[in-house]
Amino acid sequence: MPLEIVTIPCLSDNYAFLAHDAASGNTALIDAPEAAPILAQLDQRGWTLSHVLLTHHHFDHVDGLPGILEKHPAKIIGAAADAHRLPPLDQQVSEGDTFELGGETVQVLDVSGHTVGHIAFYMPQSAVVFTADSLMALGCGRLFEGTAPQMWDSLSKLAALPDDTLVCSGHEYTQSNAKFALTVDPDNAALRDRAADIDRVRAAGEPTVPSSLALEKATNPFLRAADPAIQAHLGMSGAEPAAVFAEIRARKDRF
Ligand code: ZN
Ligand code: FE
Repeated sequence: MPLEIVTIPCLSDNYAFLAHDAASGNTALIDAPEAAPILAQLDQRGWTLSHVLLTHHHFDHVDGLPGILEKHPAKIIGAAADAHRLPPLDQQVSEGDTFELGGETVQVLDVSGHTVGHIAFYMPQSAVVFTADSLMALGCGRLFEGTAPQMWDSLSKLAALPDDTLVCSGHEYTQSNAKFALTVDPDNAALRDRAADIDRVRAAGEPTVPSSLALEKATNPFLRAADPAIQAHLGMSGAEPAAVFAEIRARKDRF
């Protein structure tokens, strides 16, 4: 049985997620932006948290934790590299580590770039990856700490996962990401279709997250730095994908 995934809007544009294993009753929370909406979902479903998985140290991913732990004293797992600036961890993990969540084996990926120490949690049996502010729906996190080549490596690692992987990312930035994406990849029909879909979904007040990795690979310009049409549009035909990625990220920062 795959994990049941619940998407929880928090703060103004964050997402937290629950991953529930029905067989064992284990439930993981991925990131803790805000306690109240997360506690409400747990109450409504009658679930008790067994694990909290933290992707990175930014306040909008951890500040809800104290209020959640009062009612759900779960095991907290986060990056060893960031143990000094994350809430106290019960288990410190690094690239390549695995741990069990009910019947699922969770794989830890280092996806540094937005921060150095940002990790993603990949659950292959359920075909889901929690990427927070690394790979985002039609975007990627701003490079606050890491370099462009580092983020390109991180995104390439995520892009190598199976196409049917569900990408659970950390923010509802998709509509503005689509406007930017169209400026670097204007002739991409799949992107134009997706942008129209996003407008409909947002007009209905629904989330655009999660998304499928196949769709991200077809439309997200930050995964498409090796694409000849994008390279030509940027006047960078034949350039190293990491350099093209750096140019796309720089343009997005100015957008
Ligand atoms: Zn962040
Ligand atoms: Fe964030």
